[in-house]
Amino acid sequence: MTGTWRNWAGTVHARPAETVVAMSVEDVRSAVERARPRGLRVKAVGAGHSFTPIARTDGVAVRLDGLRGLTAADLPERRVRVRAGTPLHELNPALQALGLALPNLGDIDRQSLAGALATGTHGTGGRRHGIASAVTGLRLVLADGSLLWCSAEEEPAVFEAARVGLGALGIVVEAELQCVPAFLLRAREGSDTLSAMLDGAALRAAEEHDHFELYWFPHTDRVQTKRNDRAAPHAPRRPLPAWRAWLDDELLANDAFELVNRIGAWRPRLVPPLARLSARALSGREFVDHSWRVFCSSRRVRFVECEYAVPRASVGEVLRALRDWVDAHDVAVSFPVEVRFLAGDDVWLSTAHGRDTAYVAVHQYHRVDPGPYFAAFEAIAGEHEGRPHWGKVHTLTADDLAPRYARFDDFRAVRDRLDPDRVFGNRYLEQVLGA
Ligand SMILES: Cc1cc2nc3c(=O)[nH]c(=O)nc-3n(C[C@H](O)[C@H](O)[C@H](O)COP(=O)(O)OP(=O)(O)OC[C@H]3O[C@@H](n4cnc5c(N)ncnc54)[C@H](O)[C@@H]3O)c2cc1C
Repeated sequence: MTGTWRNWAGTVHARPAETVVAMSVEDVRSAVERARPRGLRVKAVGAGHSFTPIARTDGVAVRLDGLRGLTAADLPERRVRVRAGTPLHELNPALQALGLALPNLGDIDRQSLAGALATGTHGTGGRRHGIASAVTGLRLVLADGSLLWCSAEEEPAVFEAARVGLGALGIVVEAELQCVPAFLLRAREGSDTLSAMLDGAALRAAEEHDHFELYWFPHTDRVQTKRNDRAAPHAPRRPLPAWRAWLDDELLANDAFELVNRIGAWRPRLVPPLARLSARALSGREFVDHSWRVFCSSRRVRFVECEYAVPRASVGEVLRALRDWVDAHDVAVSFPVEVRFLAGDDVWLSTAHGRDTAYVAVHQYHRVDPGPYFAAFEAIAGEHEGRPHWGKVHTLTADDLAPRYARFDDFRAVRDRLDPDRVFGNRYLEQVLGA
């Protein structure tokens, strides 16, 4: 099969020499084995939700759409094995049916499990971790077509590298996940001022709440806050009424927001007054629902995004500098800046490796050039040893990244061992890992 591939944002295009839709592990192995004698490189493709060209290939694109669903469940240990192509929106209800859940999730569920793991996809929670920290084992198809199982006990170096593997080590076909009992989240959304958040309220909220995040509306001092906490066991579920969920999450957050962005792209001078209007319209709401329903929402307005992980204590300085830059420049920013938190972890290429982290993410509507805004933000994050999300727009190279990750060279050593000929390479991996 041939054809053009593009990512969700429509900013990365590719024309792979061949696209294989794998229905089995054997299909993946044979795609790798057949590519090598033809001198083609191989790339697993997930749901295409990365903003970077991390999934782009002109060789063989292997889609794992057919490799979905659970393969095993150990209920007493709360461990499951999952085929790597399973989309998160299928995984979450499947876990729920077993009385299980992932401890933390990002804010959408359209990604494939393997794609989400490969780039270090994360949500928020000052005492919590990203999705990759729940992985206890991975099965990979290697560059010679062989299969390898890795875990903390078997092939531990491969395991540490492959949990956030950038698609550079092999094609993951199955993952083992340590789940937690299914839980309800009590969501409390409200509004506040950026000034109050910068004065320490954000850091306190990140400590006090299970999952705290905020959205700052540039050109204003307003923020929207989301405080999600685990409900007591047996607490009743109190989801939003269907009409309210539709009004807030579909009509306002998507349809009306699309309109605002179109107007802003057409007449940038209207963006600041529109931002002030939107910020004034922020209202609070409270509900209790299944964790994955609270974590994930629908995002239909296309955008591009750049996100950096910075040491948590730097978040105030980063936001102040960003606000000053926006105020001092003739730039129209129609998307809120998203701020999230994670505890430090031990996954080698996790953006939260070894330090309690704050994530600051800037976005621009897909029809607007993000250039100067993103460049200014990257410079600010760079002053705080910022680590870019592997799947979101950035310009850093291996030379910039190596000093920011204590285990960077260990990762590259595993890559050299597993894929010396760079069968799984592409231009993006050359940029961030070196040749
Ligand atoms: C609207 C939107 C919201 C988002 N929200 C968040 C968020 O809340 N938090 C966050 O951290 N990120 C977020 N992201 C980024 C997103 O989670 C990541 O870019 C993620 O990698 C996308 O997964 P995917 O399945 O689309 O993978 P793709 O983008 O298709 O691929 C990503 C990488 O995974 C590799 N890969 C895919 N399958 C395999 C496999 N089987 N074996 C080995 N490698 C594989 C690919 O080769 C590529 O290197 C968001 C993106 C969008 C568009």
